Parts: sequence; structure tokens; C-alpha cells
Amino acid sequence: MQLLNPEVPRALSRVKRLNMIVLDWAGTTVDYGSMAPVKTLTELFSRAGMPITESEARRDMGLPKKDHIRNILLARNGNETGLDGLYREFIPLQFACLARYSTIISGIPQAVARFRKRDLKIGSTTGYTREMLDLLVEQSAQEGYHADCSLTPEDAGAGRPHPFMMYSLAIRLQAYPMAAVVKVGDTPADILEGLNAGAWSVGIVKTGNMIGLSQQEFETLPLSEQAQRLRQARTQFAEAGAHYVVDSVAELDPVLDDIDDRLATHTN
Ligand SMILES: [Mg+2]
Repeated sequence: MQLLNPEVPRALSRVKRLNMIVLDWAGTTVDYGSMAPVKTLTELFSRAGMPITESEARRDMGLPKKDHIRNILLARNGNETGLDGLYREFIPLQFACLARYSTIISGIPQAVARFRKRDLKIGSTTGYTREMLDLLVEQSAQEGYHADCSLTPEDAGAGRPHPFMMYSLAIRLQAYPMAAVVKVGDTPADILEGLNAGAWSVGIVKTGNMIGLSQQEFETLPLSEQAQRLRQARTQFAEAGAHYVVDSVAELDPVLDDIDDRLATHTN
């Protein structure tokens, strides 16, 4: 054998700035506090005679819903007995409350308009199924937010923490290399999806699953308690390997500026 190039593979085209942003749904762009899946999962397990706490329901948030239910079963019972039946029951239960908890988070349409002004393509990924996402896409379009392409695990063959939804978006929206792509979401599973894709990963704390409170609930907490919860959530994102953390999508602009600066000045 003969070694010709000792470098780890990387894209040939030198990337100067971001060209695609990929936004998560619940807890990131809609459903402040990521309430819809939690309400559904606690109800599902309580009906099945296996009550779970809200924090148990939130621990694996961001995964495809069947994997999420499997992980709750494994953590609770040590096996996945009953998974298929629970998942069948989950689907209508989730639909029943999805529309109610899917209000767009304030500032999203304006933030996305700013991202478009920077020539960013707007992709989105989720742990919801295609039917559930269709409902969200339709409702949020009426409220002023629409992505250029929105994918579910079934569209790409697998969900988080795998990177395939990101790769599919890159193909459909013609974005490359992956260093020109930033993934934004409210769970460690979102961060892993971005990192596995070779993209930048940004964690959202205040509006998402890591705080897990509605806007009103969060704002009625004493300021010291708010600060402590935000600190804890930031630590969890740091542990997951996030490149940056911000309170909400509306506060992403300085992160995008910073990434663009780093891309413009890096040498490799
Ligand atoms: Mg989410």
C-alpha cells in the first residue's frame, strides 16, 4: 500500500459562510416548553397502569416517538414489553392534543425572515411522524412560519441521533459542505443529530424541553430560580457537545454572525 494523503477526509470546497439552518419543532419554533409530547406520554403511561413523572417523560425527548417510548419502558421496566401496543395508543392521543399545544413561539416569523435575509435556506427536522408534522406545518404557516423543507424520521429512514434527516435536507435544499449547516434544537438528541452530521449544533434553553415550562410558568418563577434553571440547562447542552447555547431562536443572530466569522477566517 501507499499512503498518498494523510488528512482525514473533508469537503474540498472551502466554506466561507453558513448556507442552511435546520430548526427543530416542539420547544424550538412551536409549543413553548415542549408540552404536547409530555402531556401525551404521561397520559399514555398512566392509562397503561405505569405512571411516569414529567422528568421521565422529558429525558429522551427529541428521539422518534417510538424510540422515545421504548427508552421509557427500558428505564422503567428493564424491557420493552408492550411497546407496539403503547405506540398504537400513542398516535391518536398525540393527535388529540397536538393542535392545542402547537402555537408558534413568539418572534419566530421575524427571526426566520432575518435568516432568509442572510441567504440561509431553512430546513426543519422532528421526532414527530409525517402526519403529525403535516398538522404542525399547516398550523404554523397560518401563524407566519414556514420552512423550505420539513422532514420526519420516516422521510429519511431514521431519526435522531442519526444524521440522515440533515443529509436529506442538504440534498433537497442543495447545501454543502455540512460545516456550512447549523442545527438548532431544544434537546441533547438535537445536538447529537447536528454533531453526527458534521454540522454546527446550537441548544435552545428557555423555550424548550430542558426548562420544560410554559412561558407563563417560567415568567412567574423568582428571578434567581429562573437563572438557576437556565444555568442547569446550559450545562446539559455543554455536556452534549453543543457549539453554542441561547435562550431562544429569536436570539440566534449573534451566534450566526460568530459562526460566519469563524468560517471566514479559519484555515484548513
Ligand atoms: Mg424539540
